[in-house]
Amino acid sequence: MMPYGTAAEAEAALGRSLTWAESWWFRYSARMPDLWLMWHVALVFFVMYALVPLPLLLLQQLAPAFALKYKLQPQVKQASPIAILRYMRDSTGLVPFIIGPFAAIYSAAFKMLGMRMGLPLPSARETMTQLVVYSLVEDYIDYWLHRFLHTKWGYDKIHYAHHEIRTATGFGASYAELTVYAITIFAGPAIVPCHVTTHWLWFSIRIMVNMDTHSGYDFPFSLSKLIPFYVGAKFHDYHHYAGGQSQSNFSSIFTYCDNLYGTNKGYMYHKGSLLKLKMKEAEHNNVKTRDSSGKED
Ligand SMILES: [Zn+2]
Ligand SMILES: [Zn+2]
Repeated sequence: MMPYGTAAEAEAALGRSLTWAESWWFRYSARMPDLWLMWHVALVFFVMYALVPLPLLLLQQLAPAFALKYKLQPQVKQASPIAILRYMRDSTGLVPFIIGPFAAIYSAAFKMLGMRMGLPLPSARETMTQLVVYSLVEDYIDYWLHRFLHTKWGYDKIHYAHHEIRTATGFGASYAELTVYAITIFAGPAIVPCHVTTHWLWFSIRIMVNMDTHSGYDFPFSLSKLIPFYVGAKFHDYHHYAGGQSQSNFSSIFTYCDNLYGTNKGYMYHKGSLLKLKMKEAEHNNVKTRDSSGKED
């Protein structure tokens, strides 16, 4: 709860006028108990996991012709609606836990670590810097955790369920992976405390990235292609394509760990082979066209 009774008191304490966003934040949260405000993480989790994959689900079930040419692993049968419902149930099944004891632990722990909830709101620059730091921290921890999950014990006991999905779906993104995210997603904000709104934003972005890398489609017009070293659907799809024996493409947001530790070699070889095959096909088609036009002459 904010220590100001009115917006004017808040402005006097800050020594400046509130921005539009800060006025909105004051109206929304000034009288709200801290615990309830932090509890919103459950709402963010539920909305992101339950609603964001719906357009993907429609895309996969309707399979319009324009999208099919961008589908990764088109030869693999799409998961059935029953299987997708199962992924959805399992992805959101932890919500009661998140609403209950988890939210209480999360709230207490992050308040102790220095999470801010009042005014001023963080600047765009502070938010961006924190998001980049969180991504790098999460990537590094997640990379090594993911490699551990591909040891015999880690795979047989935990990670096999995630690899039941040979070609990805949005709901499949979180399938059997929530225990991993419970560790990695909070690491950055625990090391570099932020405003609660930044935490919600980070949480939302991380879930969206996970949905995107598991979308099963590689659209050339995707804005994510503008982000340097971004993993993307194609990169992570190879990890699922290679299956449980995969020792390649472990990264979750940026590819730097796979580049650094050489675990992208299988993928690079695969990409090179596909390119050679395409060039051979194009050459073959050119020869055929030349031959048929020669005959006509
Ligand atoms: Zn894996
Ligand atoms: Zn995956």
